[in-house]
Amino acid sequence: MTNQVTVVGLGPMGATMAERFLDAGYDVTVWNRTASKAAPLVARGARPAERPTGDLMVISQLNYRAMYDSLAGVDLKGKVLVNLSSDSPKVLREAASWVAGQGGVLVTAGIMVPPPGIGQPGSYAFYSGPGEVIERHSQTLRALGDVVDVGTDPGLAMLYYQAQLYVFWSTLTSFMHATALLGSAGVKPGQGLPYFKETVGLLASDGPMGFLQQLSDEIEAGEYPGELNSMHMMAVGAEHALDAFRDAGLETTMPEALKALFERTDREGHGADGLGAVIEMIKKP
Ligand code: NDP
Repeated sequence: MTNQVTVVGLGPMGATMAERFLDAGYDVTVWNRTASKAAPLVARGARPAERPTGDLMVISQLNYRAMYDSLAGVDLKGKVLVNLSSDSPKVLREAASWVAGQGGVLVTAGIMVPPPGIGQPGSYAFYSGPGEVIERHSQTLRALGDVVDVGTDPGLAMLYYQAQLYVFWSTLTSFMHATALLGSAGVKPGQGLPYFKETVGLLASDGPMGFLQQLSDEIEAGEYPGELNSMHMMAVGAEHALDAFRDAGLETTMPEALKALFERTDREGHGADGLGAVIEMIKKP
């Protein structure tokens, strides 16, 4: 473990990361393209740098393009870069090769909390790259939250991050669609809320309505029993839902996508299967 860390990128995320490292007693160096953003951290004891430098650089920027721009001409031999910025898994894999070509090591990461959550109990980030490097720096990285090593493929951290974000965004957006649908008949958001809370809670439960567990088991087994609720019945139901949104004069992007996906699953031989069969369509666009 080293007690020196450099934070590259001082947007809301990077600046908070630097604060958490300072709180934990680290010797913190900071660099940002717009140098003035370092001032509050320097006032707290961080060292400003002219260029990104240091054996361990923790990067948090808009994307990986920013990393290339920031590190142009910097000697990366023997350096460990931990990049917690968002980008596509492909870009992360290419970046790991690029850093290795410069003699350094890239650990990729996806952090699962907004700035106020960084380093708070329950916060975590997915990390991918060489296991021994992640292990060597895990105590330092723990200042940002729990360290979850998901494997050596540099794209994995972002795949886990995006998978989580996709469930988060789509669940909350369908909640907003549903709230607007009730609202079209004058139902207040708070009146629908107890039922939405119950549904979301049940999906994650271990009981008979624990659909996340149930579908995960079905997908693993490749079998999607549909005797009690068939895909054909759900495709027809999804059409009714779309009609409801249209009749209410609402935006229909998501209800249309749902109907299209369900209808295709029904049409392509899974009409008697259950909801899990949708994954077969997703795997075969
Ligand atoms: P931004 O995504 O807006 O990133 C801002 C930082 O990127 C600034 O330091 C900015 O420098 C730098 N930057 C952008 N382009 C370049 C470039 N070409 N060269 C050098 N530096 C550049 O802010 P956040 O802090 O919110 O997010 C950082 C990362 O964390 C993002 O990838 C985001 O997706 C991810 N993330 C964000 C969360 C959030 O809630 N905010 C939650 C989880 C992940 P300058 O100051 O000079 O403009």
